[in-house]
Amino acid sequence: TEHAQSLNESTNALVSFPTKNHNPNPHGPLSNLTVAIKDNICTIHLPTTCSSGMLRHFTSPFDATAVELLKAGGASIIGKANCDEFGMGSLNVNSIHGPVVNPYHSPNEKSIPWAERERRSAGGSSGGSAAAVAAGMCDAALGTDTGGSIRLPASYCGITGLKPSYGLISRWGVVSFADSLDCVGVLGKSVDTVKTVFESISSYDPKDPTAATPHTRERAKASAESLLSTLDADLSDPDLSSLRIGIPQEYFPSELNTTIVTAVRKVLERLSSLGAQLIPVSLPSTPYALSAYYVIASAEASSNLARYDGVQYGTRFPLLPGADKSKPGNVYAHTRSAGFGAEVQKRILLGTYALTADAFDNYFLQAQRVRQRIKTDFDSAFRIPNAQLSNPSPNPDGVDVILHPSAIRTAPRLDSDAVSGLGPYLQDVMAVPASLAGLPTVSVPAGLAADGWPIGVSVVGQWGSDELVMCIGKVIE
Ligand code: GLN
Repeated sequence: TEHAQSLNESTNALVSFPTKNHNPNPHGPLSNLTVAIKDNICTIHLPTTCSSGMLRHFTSPFDATAVELLKAGGASIIGKANCDEFGMGSLNVNSIHGPVVNPYHSPNEKSIPWAERERRSAGGSSGGSAAAVAAGMCDAALGTDTGGSIRLPASYCGITGLKPSYGLISRWGVVSFADSLDCVGVLGKSVDTVKTVFESISSYDPKDPTAATPHTRERAKASAESLLSTLDADLSDPDLSSLRIGIPQEYFPSELNTTIVTAVRKVLERLSSLGAQLIPVSLPSTPYALSAYYVIASAEASSNLARYDGVQYGTRFPLLPGADKSKPGNVYAHTRSAGFGAEVQKRILLGTYALTADAFDNYFLQAQRVRQRIKTDFDSAFRIPNAQLSNPSPNPDGVDVILHPSAIRTAPRLDSDAVSGLGPYLQDVMAVPASLAGLPTVSVPAGLAADGWPIGVSVVGQWGSDELVMCIGKVIE
């Protein structure tokens, strides 16, 4: 429609659109929902560019399992969503399609025409997915989250975003960035919409070798169930007296904008007035998470992206005039230099370095040790045992969920220094621990900061507690 087109012109959220929309299952549970798909998730009818020159002309011969399930549920797919190249970024500015503009209007800007408003980042890497939902172009969107890419844009755009437990949603047909961290998740205006979509696409897929088995899913469900049944969260007057919420001291760093702290405090006061117990917890390895994340994610990316050589995969770029065609290295090197953007090339170089014999012990192995400590930190904080461990040691004094601000700030302006240098990496500091541990987290809107822009709070749960974190998220929204 014309309205959707003009919204897209101002946000740059969607990068391709279907020509016709036939609904295979008009009576499915998703039949009243319109959904956008992040452009690193394969679709048979629309290109999958990963916002990269390397895949500019690529259309997948199959649908990702998550897309297949959406279609089977009756959802209408309205288009593919802009993102950072291969998911690498926090602000959706690393894209051949150009940056995504945050559609949020701060209250003081309502009367100002679009073209004259502040242009702020929608967050990334699932920035197009978040902006499409926030602008009202669709009800929900699929994103991917490797180190915050759903939660950060959700927070910046004032919507809800779920990064599920690792392995619950199939990664079959999702272009790999860092396999051990990549999760498909859902963005939407409300927790209810997110939950409906999540339930339709969270199922065991034998095509994904890292998928959680039905047995592990059952175990996790059983341990969260007793708590869920005592929570009366669907009523207008919920009773949270059986709920223990952990507040991690490491998630309130000095960089945190003070008005964000005020908003989080308000959320906590409300939860406490509903009976929830607020308990300080410590996750001591948190300060090392960001470094470990960037070593592991880059190392895995360097291996995953090796396939784009212009011969087996990817767009082959013509050699420069005068280049020696007899050297095969020339074709690969030229294709990769021309096809990948600067951020992707940087990660490939850093990741390759971390995996060399000289650096492996100091970087890659060290990062894996940090990752194990982060997992242990969370496991000792939670009351619910980790269903992925064969011999978990439960902590009866532990908490049920952990709550923290989703980001250290509101969306930065696209023309500010915050979108270059180290700034974008620092945005992930709150999000990467749950990624390293594979834990479910929902970010829900929690009011506005002093600049009038939205902020989010994140609810983190034990592996498999996806329903529980959404239940608490719903009370907060
Ligand atoms: N911002 C992080 C990165 O650039 C996370 C990206 C993601 O979750 N896909 O790696």
